Amino acid sequence: MEKATVVCPYCGAGCKMQMVVDDGKIIKVEAANGKTNQGELCLKGYYGWDFLNDTKLLTPRLREPMIRREKGAPFETVSWDEAIKFVAHRLSDIKAKYGPRSIMTTGSSRGTGNETNFVMQKFARAVLGTNNVDCCARVCHGPSVAGLRATVGNGAMSVSVEDIEKSKCLLIFGYNSADSHPIVARRVVKAKQNGAKIIVCDPRRIEAARIADQHLQLNNGCNVAMVNSFIYTILEENLYNKDYVANYTEGFDALWDVVKDYAPEKVEPITGVPAADVRQAMRTYAKAETAIICWGMGVTQFGQGTETVKSLSTLALLTGQLGRPGAGLAPVRGQNNVQGGCDMGVLPDLFPGYQKVTDAAVREKFAKRWGIDPATMDKENGVKITEVPHLALEGKVKAYYIMGEDPLQTEADLSMVRKGIEALDLLVVQDIFMTKTAEVADVILPSTSWGEHSGVYTCCDRGFQRFFKAVEPKYNVKRDWAIISLIATEMGYPMHYNDEQEIWDELRELCPLYFGATYEKMGEMGHVQWPCPTLEHPGTPILYTDNKFATPSGKGLLFATQWRKPGELIDEDFPMVLCTVREVGHYSCRSMTGNCAALRTLADEPGYVQINPTDAQVLGIKDQQLVWVESRRGKVISRANVSERINRNAVYMTYQWWIGACNELTQDNVDSVTATPETKYCAVKVVAIEDQ
Ligand code: SF4
Repeated sequence: MEKATVVCPYCGAGCKMQMVVDDGKIIKVEAANGKTNQGELCLKGYYGWDFLNDTKLLTPRLREPMIRREKGAPFETVSWDEAIKFVAHRLSDIKAKYGPRSIMTTGSSRGTGNETNFVMQKFARAVLGTNNVDCCARVCHGPSVAGLRATVGNGAMSVSVEDIEKSKCLLIFGYNSADSHPIVARRVVKAKQNGAKIIVCDPRRIEAARIADQHLQLNNGCNVAMVNSFIYTILEENLYNKDYVANYTEGFDALWDVVKDYAPEKVEPITGVPAADVRQAMRTYAKAETAIICWGMGVTQFGQGTETVKSLSTLALLTGQLGRPGAGLAPVRGQNNVQGGCDMGVLPDLFPGYQKVTDAAVREKFAKRWGIDPATMDKENGVKITEVPHLALEGKVKAYYIMGEDPLQTEADLSMVRKGIEALDLLVVQDIFMTKTAEVADVILPSTSWGEHSGVYTCCDRGFQRFFKAVEPKYNVKRDWAIISLIATEMGYPMHYNDEQEIWDELRELCPLYFGATYEKMGEMGHVQWPCPTLEHPGTPILYTDNKFATPSGKGLLFATQWRKPGELIDEDFPMVLCTVREVGHYSCRSMTGNCAALRTLADEPGYVQINPTDAQVLGIKDQQLVWVESRRGKVISRANVSERINRNAVYMTYQWWIGACNELTQDNVDSVTATPETKYCAVKVVAIEDQ
């Protein structure tokens, strides 16, 4: 038997584990002593691998390259040579006819790794000549990146995962750690055991609320009003750190004018949270020796997502709760390598290492290293993935090269996304399973899975960690970066790498933030957090320890804005709020975990809709009964999960289910800065099936 060290691909916690392999088959997974997981795993880590042995697959593993020669024709299995030539020539034709910006590409925040994301953005920028490259951070933590970059300079957690248990106070806002990152949730429990105060701000009575000192059970869709009342309280009760504000921040004078109308007593009808509770929470937070604000998509997936992040950042800056062990800002990234996707520049406005595409000197540097004329590079920010369906319908995007993403499952308002995808001239899907998006592709390029290749992921706390190949791939598949390199070469830009390390060393050279994070430094079990600018540098577990921020002025920017109502409101026809959430046993579009027999025994089709017992009674719905959930955009079948933990007049669905996909219902009102969709709020009605 052999053991291979891998990093779990099912959330940003970055748990290290060992795959035990016997005769080319994985027989079990053991927890390893990684920096973030310390010998523990959750159920997805322990049981999320059996698809690699090809047992009981619900959806076919992609085994051969395939082409659909014309719309509506069946897939035809072809050689790699033919598939590569087909893609290269079609992309070249479209580029020549409609220009580089008519082609869209994606990186992947899932199991493929940082090296592949680097190669994909290089392909977009150096070969296609476009900044049209994006990743699923767009539909989750895009607002965290934008909001933190604007206020403190770095779009990432300022502390480490281990700081969560060291902190004396956790303000947990719109983040259900128990379902999203179970190993991070254990740190929350440990913090409580260590005497920390826990304040949970969430409409549902989530797991963390059960151990919280205070649960601020706010109404759905009022985050900015809530945070404004926090800032109001901090200012009115003189809870802010005057020296810190004076020395290390800017924008203080403008704050009061914005928040003066958000006294907790005044906004109680909007937030539903008793004013005394708000005031108590802010006294606890501001006076704590150390405090961390943790948030998730309950903050970011709103039309005001970026503004909410900036306001949460402001709370930390006002109180000086930053730059120390146990004190900071923690947007806990969802997918295992969504931080890495952003780090690697699969973003339409940033090269790897968060260097702006609009900066001529930066473009010059990349062009020189890549051997291209800087004049051929795109000088403007590219297209965001949530804009693609609209631009495809307008005829502005003609080709879409999707790597390891499934927009026909994971994006908001699927009927609109479907129309956009249908309008494309060319859809290329590079993946490991026949996803909803792969089913309608023109070309399928089958790639290796995690477990079958090596590389580096970045976990949620900026930690680079290596993962290793455990088994040989069984089918006629290729490594993602090798496929991209072959297409680039066929398009006239010779691209070749021998292994992941060559790619990693190229990106280190181009990114001052990562230069010192070598493969050797990471080793098998290491965890090197950026910034790591030199070979001698050990990495940076905590940002801003010198109270200098990575903003143009070096100061933290204080920010507040007016609250706006969500884009779609409830009414008589659609009287309940639908909010999309996570399921502990499954991951992302479920292409991997849905093909793991053990995880399917925990939760399987049809999915469920969580509803309060009183609402269920009023609607004549019993627990586990099949129901229709309908919005202005669609109607899906689901199973009622009646629970006291759910607030009145709202229902919650996870986005993983293939039958009853809740994104048939969601709407694409988007965050004004990042175009992240407001999947936490739309209007629906729920009807028992027997009543149809
Ligand atoms: Fe995997 Fe996340 Fe569970 Fe850790 S907490 S084992 S990374 S799913």
